[in-house]
Amino acid sequence: MTRVQMIGVGKRYPARGSGSAPVVAVDDVSIDVASGEIHAVIGYSGAGKSTLLRLVNGLEQATSGSILVGDDDVTKLSESKLRAVRGRIGMIFQQFNLFHSKKVAKNVEYPLVVAGVPAEERKRRVAEMLDFVGLGDKADSYTDQLSGGQKQRVGIARALATNPGVLLADEATSALDPETSQEVLGLLKRVNEEFGITIILITHEMEVVRSIANRVTVMEKGRAVEQGDVFDVFSDP
Ligand code: ADP
Ligand code: ADP
Repeated sequence: MTRVQMIGVGKRYPARGSGSAPVVAVDDVSIDVASGEIHAVIGYSGAGKSTLLRLVNGLEQATSGSILVGDDDVTKLSESKLRAVRGRIGMIFQQFNLFHSKKVAKNVEYPLVVAGVPAEERKRRVAEMLDFVGLGDKADSYTDQLSGGQKQRVGIARALATNPGVLLADEATSALDPETSQEVLGLLKRVNEEFGITIILITHEMEVVRSIANRVTVMEKGRAVEQGDVFDVFSDP
């Protein structure tokens, strides 16, 4: 239930050494993601997609433009306010980024510990989220005993634990086989429909966009070169 507005966003990385030029990773990109929308950003490697996602959750600082997450402009917040906004943004990753030495339940609980949620409520919430992703019986397993699809389900349960308004997905199905990818995409669709969570996903795969996105932005060399409803952008001429 959160709108995300990127307005004229730019990110320039400084030159690495003398003689090399600065890299313009994101160049004047504007994307208005409506509350409850699934918005895909597609493009080849190096197009600037993951930089753009890192700007949205404030892991990188934009060099120009504004990014509104709900009413908060993440490009202008202090680090402490930014931490609060990040609590309203969940994220999942291509390589899942789970703690292998911790049990599934502990992984899902982690963001709740960080957020200072009391133990009793944490327990309830973890059980609820594991049930939602279909892993109610895996709470006490270690994550390295799970399949790739199950690991990503744990990632999704963890990302949702704090009840965020926005979910950012960074190539969330790229490490999975096609069938497992479809299952995970189906789960993301349910996340969107049942909780009204806005989803911004980046991918290099057209199939992912076609499967679940409402709207799409095509990125090329840092720029948004095309944008619109998936059906319009990818319809055959
Ligand atoms: P994508 O996610 O679409 O593959 P990236 O956002 O990773 O694209 O990269 C966009 C451009 O920015 C690339 O040219 C990449 O080399 C450059 N880049 C990404 N991160 C950094 C960084 N931390 N420092 C310097 N250049 C970077
Ligand atoms: P960051 O990008 O903030 O440095 P990482 O990339 O290391 O974080 O971790 C990625 C994911 O792992 C995030 O969703 C974060 O919430 C989660 N995470 C980070 N540290 C821990 C931890 N000690 N235990 C469980 N999850 C963690």
